[in-house]
Amino acid sequence: MRRFVLFLFIFFLVCGIIAQAEEWDTLKSTHFVVYYKKAPEDFVKKISDRAEELYNKITADLGFNRFDFWLWDNRAKIYIYDDAVQFQTTTGNPAWVGGVAIPKLKTIATFYYAKNTDYSPQVSLPDFLNQGLPHEMTHIIFREFVGFSNTAIPLWLEEGVASYQEKDKYDKVYALLKYWRSEKRFMDLKKLSQFSALSGIDDKTAGVFYAEAFTVVDFLMKEFGRDRFVLFCQNLRDKKNFEQALVSTYSLRDIGELDSAWQRYLWHE
Ligand SMILES: [Zn+2]
Repeated sequence: MRRFVLFLFIFFLVCGIIAQAEEWDTLKSTHFVVYYKKAPEDFVKKISDRAEELYNKITADLGFNRFDFWLWDNRAKIYIYDDAVQFQTTTGNPAWVGGVAIPKLKTIATFYYAKNTDYSPQVSLPDFLNQGLPHEMTHIIFREFVGFSNTAIPLWLEEGVASYQEKDKYDKVYALLKYWRSEKRFMDLKKLSQFSALSGIDDKTAGVFYAEAFTVVDFLMKEFGRDRFVLFCQNLRDKKNFEQALVSTYSLRDIGELDSAWQRYLWHE
């Protein structure tokens, strides 16, 4: 069975990636430098081309104005490890992770999927181009907007925004959520807000967490619109307090009211 694959972001510096920078081959484009070793050039080129396509698409989708252009020395870095084991050992990620972003360093890391092993997630290149890459790039773009060291951002919002850019992945998510609710695996917003990291969490719980996080952002976008969401992110950036940003943007009293409104939307009540 195909293993559930997710894409993460991390705050800390991955020393291994940076220290080995000189040993990598590079493919440079206007906004990105792709680092690779044994991955074939056509694989590398596809990732580089797609990243350039997404560069403006993601900011436009989210309604963010870009202030910090990713040019010259400010280009984003994408590291492609030779295989999943090398990726996991260097970045310290569990087997269900297909890629990571380190927003502050404007860096993304993934691996060459053709060399999948038993230890690797069954990711394909199209999965990465349509889901993993936009997800990881969104982590960087979102953090550039709300502030890299802003601690007011709950993990569910961070992952929800990134997952919102994954093409087609959550098409059936509303049916899945109903199923998880019947299985008593659904988590309310209070529970979601308790997650500050996903390390040590099993892949099933992580799957529910990401899917639910996606639907909160989807709900905010569909119910209140993109301009309001941009205002919400500006308030998060300026106030550095989640509940204050929420209350001053939306006609909601507190996070509890967001939870009720979101759940009414989910269950069509
Ligand atoms: Zn993520």
